[in-house]
Amino acid sequence: MAAKTIFKRIIDKEIAAQIVYEDEHCLAFRDINPQAPIHVLVIPRKEIPSLAHATEDDTVLLGQLLAAVRVIADQMKLANGYRVIINCGPDGGQTVDHLHVHLLGGRRLDWPPG
Ligand code: 5GP
Repeated sequence: MAAKTIFKRIIDKEIAAQIVYEDEHCLAFRDINPQAPIHVLVIPRKEIPSLAHATEDDTVLLGQLLAAVRVIADQMKLANGYRVIINCGPDGGQTVDHLHVHLLGGRRLDWPPG
């Protein structure tokens, strides 16, 4: 059996994370290496390695992830805006093979990213 990802271990409460939101489908916690004053990762409880692995059956779940981002952004008072990022695969800079959405805010973010 393949080894659990670090995010699956967070879902299973085997390792600690600063959880800021959870519901039936999603879990959100602070990134261990924040790139902005607010840097939260929103993940599905379902194990999907990357956005490229999501199927038509996951369409509703993808919407639920974004809906969770909006709720968390409200909770974090990011009224001045924020950025939402999904890194996908090696060229996208993905380092953890469990689909995750980055929510970054609390400072003015540069564009384009590197
Ligand atoms: P990626 O580069 O795959 O899009 O993003 C993975 C993110 O997970 C990185 O921003 C990294 O800092 C974060 N990360 C990696 N390991 C851990 C961990 O054990 N706990 C938390 N909270 N974040 C982690």
